Amino acid sequence: MNNVLLHPDSLGTNLSEWLSGNGGTGLEKALSDPAGIISIIKEADLRGLGGSGFPSSKKWQFVAEQSANPDKYLICNGNEDEPGTFKDAHLLTHAPHQVIEGALITALASQINKIVFYINPEQTTSLDNVRIAVEQWETCSLFEQLQAQLETPLSIRVMASSGHYIGGEETAAIESVEGNFPFPRGKPPFPAVSGVHGCPTLINNIETLANVPHILKNGAQWFRELGAGSSTGTKIYCLSGDVLKPGVYELPMGTPLSELIDTYGGGMLLDKKIKAVFTGGASSSILTPRDIDVPLNFESVKERGSSLGTGAMIVVSEGTGIVKRVTEYVNFYAHSSCGQCPPCKTGTFYISQLLNKIDTGQASEYDLESLINLCKILPGSGRCHLLDGAMQVIDSSLTHFIDEYKSSLRP
Ligand code: SF4
Repeated sequence: MNNVLLHPDSLGTNLSEWLSGNGGTGLEKALSDPAGIISIIKEADLRGLGGSGFPSSKKWQFVAEQSANPDKYLICNGNEDEPGTFKDAHLLTHAPHQVIEGALITALASQINKIVFYINPEQTTSLDNVRIAVEQWETCSLFEQLQAQLETPLSIRVMASSGHYIGGEETAAIESVEGNFPFPRGKPPFPAVSGVHGCPTLINNIETLANVPHILKNGAQWFRELGAGSSTGTKIYCLSGDVLKPGVYELPMGTPLSELIDTYGGGMLLDKKIKAVFTGGASSSILTPRDIDVPLNFESVKERGSSLGTGAMIVVSEGTGIVKRVTEYVNFYAHSSCGQCPPCKTGTFYISQLLNKIDTGQASEYDLESLINLCKILPGSGRCHLLDGAMQVIDSSLTHFIDEYKSSLRP
């Protein structure tokens, strides 16, 4: 297994240990050539690993080019609140120094002077460990050298995020950092131009940042060769559900889904067969046994109609009711809607009621037809991804498991 982010030498909360092992070299290299950092990230083709897959170098470059405002923000997004997603908490708890070093290099590349660690409030150990780790960094000589190269003095804040699912959406995170309820904003303006308090703001996922010190240290080519094709590097998967060994696994991009489940996850519980895999925190299309050999990279998973998302893989075995499982997830999304967009506010509530009716055997054929029609009407009518994500998981469950829906209807 090609562990980079979760390698034992990379883990730990003591800065001296981090700097005497794997750490510090990436920042040293960045300090020796700040103007070259973004080119290395571009060549490595590091992409957003919180679900977007957007090229990191482009985001960094947008913010680097903004010069009208003296303050620029970096939000290190550790809000993760999707079902089945727990990789960022793992990194923040066990490897806070590599994440902080990644954030410092990012700040240097884009001349950012305000870093905010935005961490799910339920992850109290992550919050504690990052606070302790930041205090250690602020007194080390590398930090002083970094300060000397920034146009405006750098400050680091560690805060509990809103704790809402939508609080992880970029513009919602900006609202939250400003002290408001995390209502997603309309775009434009984009955060790179006008984010926190109207200042240019870069938002990166924790896993993305954790890669940065290693790329600077080992080079872009090294990172490209870890992955496969146009998906470079590694990916951390949150494997859960009906497998023998659920957990956090870092594997090279392109590792087949079957290998993740059988080799690392220990296979299925009670030797049952796989029925479905919910990907990306249950907000992407469902994968089925015919997709079991799909290489886990951005492109291949997309070709199967789904997305890599956050890397959450919730494995469901035969015998599990898909209607019940989808109903549970949609109840979560209905509960998480912020209510700004009427189609999402009323739509998620209504489809949640429809699904509960189907799941409890009280629905008619007309109800099922309504659900099918709503899957065509509602997508694209919300400001953020929540509504589309909820509809996507329903739509794909209808595609693959329509017989289960039909057999759940009242006689
Ligand atoms: Fe809020 Fe839903 Fe609109 Fe997103 S789509 S902004 S969650 S109401």
